[in-house]
Amino acid sequence: MRSEEPKEKEKVLLDEGSVGAISNDKEGRSSVQTTNDKLFSWYVKHGRHELPWRKTKDPYKIYLSEIMLQQTRVATVLERFYFPFLERFPTLKSVTEASQEEVLKAWEGLGYYSRARNLHKTAKLCGGVLPRSSEELLRLPGIGKSTARAIACFAFGEAKPILDANVKRILYRYYRRRKATEKELWKMAERLFDPERPYEWNQGMMDLGATLCLPVAPRCRECPLAAGCRGKETPLRYPASRERRTRPVRKESILVLESGGRLALQRSRKRFHGGLWHFPRCEEEWPGEELGVIRQVYSHFTLEGRVLKVDSLPEGFTGVLRFFGPKEIEKLPMGGADRKALELAAGSGGFKNWERVIRN
Ligand code: SF4
Repeated sequence: MRSEEPKEKEKVLLDEGSVGAISNDKEGRSSVQTTNDKLFSWYVKHGRHELPWRKTKDPYKIYLSEIMLQQTRVATVLERFYFPFLERFPTLKSVTEASQEEVLKAWEGLGYYSRARNLHKTAKLCGGVLPRSSEELLRLPGIGKSTARAIACFAFGEAKPILDANVKRILYRYYRRRKATEKELWKMAERLFDPERPYEWNQGMMDLGATLCLPVAPRCRECPLAAGCRGKETPLRYPASRERRTRPVRKESILVLESGGRLALQRSRKRFHGGLWHFPRCEEEWPGEELGVIRQVYSHFTLEGRVLKVDSLPEGFTGVLRFFGPKEIEKLPMGGADRKALELAAGSGGFKNWERVIRN
């Protein structure tokens, strides 16, 4: 039987007036327990068990999926990136033996390249063997609290809740909160968490967020949490929608300079796109033959690049240039904008022997 006094963690939430009281049924089972039973049954029946990272306990494969899925949709990761990356790097040990450039090349097209750089650093730091606890995982580059807990739970059975975007949305609605701090969200997750079935709770919550508690059209009638969900009457009110910021357009000239059948590239040293190869660029207008205009959307801006065939670079241009032929350039890691620029240049007919370079 439950004692009269709420447990300490429950008290905190009750004091904040955010989540309401826990009631018991006739058998003395708390509403959280029964809610979790329903979530468990729903997950067993409707969970996305077919996902390849659900069918393994290999910490590396789970870690890789978690990192890829941080900024990319499941379908995209599955269709284009997860398996080819594993084919190239079947173990974390194999990542330790590769250069950063090779890892970036395998990541090409997936974007948010700091993930690949951090994966490479992590592999080296832990010698190809991931630690087992979320506390230790959290110390590795690119692994935040929720990711650390997900890896520790799915690979090693650690019993702690995770808090990804799907879980957050459910919690906002379940507790009818329009706003909440990260700390409060963690408390809500702890409050609902099922320590007896951590794997199913974490996976079930993620699946519920991905398939029923959808951002635009939540399917509350089918939801196993509906009985206790305080926001189900007006789910779209929770959380408060964020102000939409318009993405600024950044205009640049992308300069294609040829010498002896080879094209000039630079290796980026900036945090954004660090380690990738790109054509020299300038923000001002620069004389040259226009080959076309490319657009590339990033999280914080849209790049509009005029691709120019040029004979020289702007005065005062800084940075080390290297010249590459078609075969070499295919092996280099390049971002989406530069792959598009390369495709334009190759298809323009203005560069001999470059026609067969195609964007992958
Ligand atoms: S009842 Fe509706 S709003 Fe509440 S968790 Fe389920 S799908 Fe989301």
